[in-house]
Amino acid sequence: MRIGMVAPPGAGKGTQGALIAAHFNIPHICTGEILRDHVNRGTDTGRVVSDYLDRGELVPDEVLCDTIHQALSDVIAAGGDYVLDGMPRTMDQARAIHRVSSELGMAPDVVLHLKADDETVRQRMLARAAVEHRSDDTEPAIRRRLALYHQMTEPILAWYAFRGILVTVDATRTAAEVGREILAVLEVLRPVIRNVPEKMRRPVDLTMLTPAMAQGS
Ligand code: AMP
Repeated sequence: MRIGMVAPPGAGKGTQGALIAAHFNIPHICTGEILRDHVNRGTDTGRVVSDYLDRGELVPDEVLCDTIHQALSDVIAAGGDYVLDGMPRTMDQARAIHRVSSELGMAPDVVLHLKADDETVRQRMLARAAVEHRSDDTEPAIRRRLALYHQMTEPILAWYAFRGILVTVDATRTAAEVGREILAVLEVLRPVIRNVPEKMRRPVDLTMLTPAMAQGS
């Protein structure tokens, strides 16, 4: 399965991406993790990107492309399935991924949208800061990352919804609840993806279920 993810910072992309990768036994490409690893190892790339990361800015596309090259080669070697976490973040990146992955027959089958409001993710990132000490889990960087998400990343959702491959889940719940729902929906979609052409598919919005279930309980 080929799975993309779009989510605000702090919505749980890393956690859910790792869960999906383990469940389907597919590579997990996490662009933020790859970049942080360069910073930690003090590579040339790490020196270039560290300031962008600290300020919560997007890393320039040409640096990003060079950096994820190896991960993409690993995906091709592993058969072409993947869960891609942290990319696309801009419409240009979304179009580039679509162009390149379609040429390789590796376009995403499903794009997961982890939906969460700003206050929830802000609180999570501040709580995470105390444990993980990420350089971008600071108030100013969080503000910038959220602003960039709304301005640059969120518009991509409509494009994936239009193409019928977007699945939206309520990511404000616990990681276990969100993970269970994601794995269930991906398992249900597996035969659909194989048998139903993309143009006949519809976006799936599971966030409708949360208030409906709260009322019923
Ligand atoms: P994340 O771990 O996904 O929250 O990403 C951490 C940081 O890595 C972001 O705030 C950006 O500085 C950088 N980054 C990760 N993915 C991308 C991307 N697709 N385009 C540009 N910058 C990125």
